[in-house]
Amino acid sequence: MRKMRVAALGIAAAVAAGTLYQLPASPFARNGYPERPAANTSTGPSQNDPGEAENQAASDPGTKVSPKTSSASGGPAEQITYPQQGTVRYSVLPGNPAAIGRAGTLRTFQIAIEGGIKGVDRTAFANFVRATYAAPQGWASGGLWRFRQVGPGQAADFTLMLVTPSTRDTICGGGPDRYTSCRIGDRVVLNVARWAHGVPNYGAPLPQYRQYMINHETGHRLGRGHELCPAAGQPAPVMQQQTLGLHGCTAYAWPYLGHTRYKGRLGQYDDPIPSS
Ligand SMILES: [Zn+2]
Repeated sequence: MRKMRVAALGIAAAVAAGTLYQLPASPFARNGYPERPAANTSTGPSQNDPGEAENQAASDPGTKVSPKTSSASGGPAEQITYPQQGTVRYSVLPGNPAAIGRAGTLRTFQIAIEGGIKGVDRTAFANFVRATYAAPQGWASGGLWRFRQVGPGQAADFTLMLVTPSTRDTICGGGPDRYTSCRIGDRVVLNVARWAHGVPNYGAPLPQYRQYMINHETGHRLGRGHELCPAAGQPAPVMQQQTLGLHGCTAYAWPYLGHTRYKGRLGQYDDPIPSS
């Protein structure tokens, strides 16, 4: 009995901190949808963009779903570090009871962050993800989808994971690249290397690339395949592989444009994946 009580306390503490647990190895051998990044920065100059300077203050554990979140958007205080290979154990963040979106099919999701990743404010990260879904041009804006973040131990329709580059390779399958993100089964897998650095020549600030990677991979989970740039100078559809190339389009992170679903023709380019 005493032991059980200790165990229960341990669990409570783990829940409070974001529970650690081991996800099974991916049962899928094939890569679902390799991602590509877009914003520039190998060394992180964009993190010093004065326009994002508010981030640190916003990273306190407030719970608002606000687009101007905190350090998740890349403020100067954010210093993300990660090994190439993380612990393959995950901290599942606490849920949030507020449903996102006014109508449509509800998709519940968990957020899991791999051990070994440092410098990502968890509350700010969750706020950023929810704000991305809730944005005026986000997936929940068209009345087709709603989302709700659930916590540790609760059933979820999908898990949005922030993982290290090597773990990305293990989970996503296909060719190992350590560079892209992917969606595989019910896992929306974000590569922390892209979260931290974006991609070169994206032409938009890092937070926009982050919104793109969330929206693109989630779009796969919602059943969407890859799309092409409609015409030079046009915004890139969110399902275009913007991480690997814009092909004349301009960076655009959202599934809707002016309240209309914004799409390109189905297809994908044969872009090389940069070596990380
Ligand atoms: Zn994709």
